[in-house]
Amino acid sequence: MIYDILILGGGPAGYTAALYATRAGRRVAVVERMASGGQMCLTAQIDNYPGFPEGVDGNTLGGYFEAQARRFGGETVWGEIEKVDLASDPKRVTVDGSEYEAWAIIIATGATHRHLDVEGEERLLGRGVGYCAACDGMLFRGKRVAVVGGGDSAVGDALILSELCEQVTLIHRRAEFRAARVLTEALKRKENITLRTESRVKTICGEKKVEAVELETPRGIERLALDGVFISVGREPATVLFSGQLSLDEAGYVIAGEDTKASLPGVFAAGDVRTKTVRQVITAAADGAVAAHAAEEYLNAIDRG
Ligand code: NAP
Repeated sequence: MIYDILILGGGPAGYTAALYATRAGRRVAVVERMASGGQMCLTAQIDNYPGFPEGVDGNTLGGYFEAQARRFGGETVWGEIEKVDLASDPKRVTVDGSEYEAWAIIIATGATHRHLDVEGEERLLGRGVGYCAACDGMLFRGKRVAVVGGGDSAVGDALILSELCEQVTLIHRRAEFRAARVLTEALKRKENITLRTESRVKTICGEKKVEAVELETPRGIERLALDGVFISVGREPATVLFSGQLSLDEAGYVIAGEDTKASLPGVFAAGDVRTKTVRQVITAAADGAVAAHAAEEYLNAIDRG
């Protein structure tokens, strides 16, 4: 049996693509290794996805996405994608040793937040350690937090948090920021943001929740008492499997425009994995709908051919 469309990744982009493609009458499966919702499941409270006036947790929203696609016949193949052949016809995807075939592929594998890989980071995730200030900043209203990183995201996060938190410390490993000047200038106008440059987080400390960070500085190891740490040191797209088959940009994102068409016929990229400027649940879901539409046009053309 050959699927019309295999969708790689079961986040908002993947399941929205499945919803639209199944409603167009196509045989579709989503391949997901973790949980429906993907990275979104790591967010405790999503307040910026419309339709949920009280907000919704990422796990629940992920379950809704999957259930809605399933209602129209969208299947899920659970497992790790080991290999893809995007140039063959049909295209082939190996999941936990089993091969699946499809006439079109929608890549929705997302991007993951880069980690610091320091003691305490994983253990205290969701207990003071976070990766998304826009999502979880509200939980730290009136508290002391740190943001780690020196790019646009980190500086932007520090600015967002300075509106909510009593004190924000921006910790960066170098003396110069790579963030845009307009953002670093805005930092200087904030009285409750302190800069700690040439400082690396060595350990995130705390028993049940974050209590402090230990910093490696030119003056030696220093301890900073805190309630939360937002790690904002860039993202890594999940595209290793496609390298050498598709055009990727220098950061590894699949090069595709708003029409979601990647560099091979019948291959589409939706959501955070695609070259784009805004990476949010709603923009991923929107991409999923566009990718399903583009895949449908492609399938109609090969049906006619
Ligand atoms: P980024 O530009 O890659 O910056 C990552 C930052 O994290 C850098 O300052 C880097 O330090 C630091 N870093 C990386 N690994 C680290 C580690 N292991 N330990 C400590 N620090 C580490 O990532 P980003 O800020 O997420 O931005 C990604 C892209 O999105 C950029 O192109 C950015 O312009 C864009 N963006 C734009 C906006 C906007 O408002 N226009 C907002 C957000 C993001 P070094 O500087 O020392 O390398």
